[in-house]
Amino acid sequence: MSSAIINGKEIGQEIRGSVAKQVDELKAKGVTPGLAVVLVGDNPASKTYVANKQKSCEAIGMYSELIALPETISEQQLLEHIRALNEREDIHGILVQLPLPKHINEDSVIATISPDKDVDGFAPISVGKMMLGQETYLPCTPYGVMKLLEHSGIEIAGKHAVIVGRSHIVGKPMGQLLLQKDATVTYTHSKTPDLPSFTKQADILIAAVGRANFITAAHVKEGAVVIDVGINRDEDNHLCGDVDFAAVDGIASHITPVPGGVGPMTITMLLANTVQAAAKTVN
Ligand code: NDP
Repeated sequence: MSSAIINGKEIGQEIRGSVAKQVDELKAKGVTPGLAVVLVGDNPASKTYVANKQKSCEAIGMYSELIALPETISEQQLLEHIRALNEREDIHGILVQLPLPKHINEDSVIATISPDKDVDGFAPISVGKMMLGQETYLPCTPYGVMKLLEHSGIEIAGKHAVIVGRSHIVGKPMGQLLLQKDATVTYTHSKTPDLPSFTKQADILIAAVGRANFITAAHVKEGAVVIDVGINRDEDNHLCGDVDFAAVDGIASHITPVPGGVGPMTITMLLANTVQAAAKTVN
C-alpha cells in the first residue's frame, strides 16, 4: 500500500486563507501588514525566492517592499538600511535574503534586525526565546513542518524524531520544536557513523540534508512519518527532495512530496509571522 501523502500545498492554502482573514481584520483597524524584503546582488535563485515571497504577500492583501541593493554595498550601508526599516511603522517584518556577498557578515546583519520584526526567526534573540519556549517568531521552515504534522493529525508526544541535518535554519530549530512537543529527539549530521542505524529508529524522520534522493528504503522504519525538507536537482535537472520518494513510498505511513510538501509551508509561515507582528502593533 502506498504511503499517505502530506499535501503541503493544500494545508498551506488553508492556513493562508485564515491569514488572509487576519489581514482583512487588521486593515479594517487601519493597519496593513507590511514585509520588507532585502535583496543584495543579483543571484538568480535569490531573485526567484524574493519574487515568490512578494507575490504571496500581495495575494493576501499584504504590503511588500523590495529593497534591492547592489552586490558592492558595504556592510555599514546595509546595516543603515536595516536600521531605517526597524524604525518604519508601515513595515512589520524584515527579511534579508541569504546568502549575502562574502564581504558582509551575515551574523551582524541578522542581529541588527529588530527582534519585533525578525519574521524569519533567525536572530540570536529569537533563537534564544525559541529554545526557552518563550513567545517569538519561529523559523518558517521548521514551523511549517510542525503545522504539517498538526494538520495531518500526527502524534508527536512520546515519539522518536530523528533529524538528518543540523543547520541553523532547519535542522537545529526543527529538533527544538519537536522536543517542545515532547518528542524524543536525535540529531544526526555528516559526522554521524552508520546513519541508517539511527534513522531506522525514527517514528518521525526529518530529512534536511540538501542531497538528492539521499534517504532510501534502508533508512526508514516501517510505518514512519517521513518529512522531506530538501529542495535539490537530480542528474536530469528535475526538482527532487532528500528522500528517494519511490523507494520509501509504501514503507512510510506518511510522506511529504517534493514539490508540494514542505516548500509551500515556508512562505505560508512567513506570511503568518508578519501578520502576527502587525497584530502586535494594534491595541
Ligand atoms: P545545510 O547545507 O546548511 O545543512 C545540511 C545538513 O546536512 C548539515 O547539517 C550537514 O551536516 C548534513 N549532512 C550533509 N551530508 C550529510 C550526510 N552524508 N549524512 C548526514 N548528514 C549530512 O542545508 P539546509 O539545512 O539549509 O537545507 C537542507 C535542505 O533543505 C536543502 O536541500 C535546502 O535546499 C532545503 N531547504 C528547503 C526549504 C524549504 O522551504 N522547503 C527551506 C530551507 C532549506 P554537517 O552539519 O555535519 O555539515
